[in-house]
Amino acid sequence: MFVQAGARGAYAYDEDGREYVDYVMAYGPLLLGHTYPALTGNLDELAREGFVWGSTHPSEIRLAERIRSHLPSMERMRFVTTGTEAMMSAVRVARAYTGRSLILKFAGNYHGHSDFALLDAGASAHTGDARAGGIPDGVVADVAVCRYNDLASVDEVLRERGADLAAIAVEPIVGNMGYVAPLPGFLEGLRERTRRCGAVLIFDEVITWLRLGLGGAQVRLGVAPDLTTLGKIMGGGAPIAAFGGNAEVMSVLAPDGPAFTGGTHGGNPFCVGMAHRVLDVLERRPELYDGMRVLARRLADGLSRAFAAKGLSYAVVADESIVDFKFRPGAPARDYDEARSADRAAYAAYYHAMLAGGILLPPSQNEVMFLSAAHTGSDVDRTLEAVEDALAPHG
Ligand code: PMP
Repeated sequence: MFVQAGARGAYAYDEDGREYVDYVMAYGPLLLGHTYPALTGNLDELAREGFVWGSTHPSEIRLAERIRSHLPSMERMRFVTTGTEAMMSAVRVARAYTGRSLILKFAGNYHGHSDFALLDAGASAHTGDARAGGIPDGVVADVAVCRYNDLASVDEVLRERGADLAAIAVEPIVGNMGYVAPLPGFLEGLRERTRRCGAVLIFDEVITWLRLGLGGAQVRLGVAPDLTTLGKIMGGGAPIAAFGGNAEVMSVLAPDGPAFTGGTHGGNPFCVGMAHRVLDVLERRPELYDGMRVLARRLADGLSRAFAAKGLSYAVVADESIVDFKFRPGAPARDYDEARSADRAAYAAYYHAMLAGGILLPPSQNEVMFLSAAHTGSDVDRTLEAVEDALAPHG
């Protein structure tokens, strides 16, 4: 097992001091790399007045306004600590607003580790048997799991249970069954159906916001949800997340409304300060996105060439600083059935060969490779050399 003893820039270090080019990047938050000076420097400036106050403060309000300037659908929002909490809270708001119970989600999407979210979840979750996994039958009864990119599977649930639908929760662009893009019309179809049923559309942008740009998936794709969840990447590594959306929907929250959410550390000034630092960098330096996009393309093209040389027809996808492929021939996966048909043993062997070659990858093929502003062309070249060696047993 890889045990990490240190980190700097694009690199992770093991206990023997060996350096690895890191594509895990803490599973997403480190868009600027480990130890980015504008984030990790001068921390006493942020800590001078303590870590947590328990009261709303001006910097928190400014952060909300700043987020809303990029994501206009988030008219009102609250800060929490993790993506799990953000999704849990968004689902509570949707249920309170509609007075209904049913949540429709998609196989292979990951929304954190609360009970509802773990049904047929992607990422590294093991969710085969709900009861054995500690998820109560009552929760299972109020969740319907559909196939991503398949509106017919949604319609099937809506025909029988549409009147009980509180929300559809979805990763608008998926990063937790590998990278899976929505087919044209899929998100628009969810938007139209939730409107028709009087249900709430929740976009989980915990991976996509900031990773794909300041507008996340929703601005890029031009589909506005009722509620959005944001997470880890906004703190640059510090634990801060948010949920929010349509002002009328959010008005069910206490103290004005009947739905309660809490969290001692929610909106604490230290993590809010970190989120401002992240936005300061990303708003002022759009060229960082350009650099990452070029580098991701170079890595993806190199991977494609390496596969082609071995006669392997694996599709490699790059979107901004995400690169992904599966040990599965043919076009990129469109849903979890296709994603899970990838060869797990081949990926496990590849993962270990890459680790031996000084490259740290996510251990599950459901996760994607994350580049950062700290990665360089020579890191990509080093990676592609390791890929050559790791693929040597193939073909
Ligand atoms: N939603 C998505 C899309 C995620 O990728 C994750 C975590 N990878 C979560 C929610 C949960 O976030 P956290 O781990 O901060 O609870």
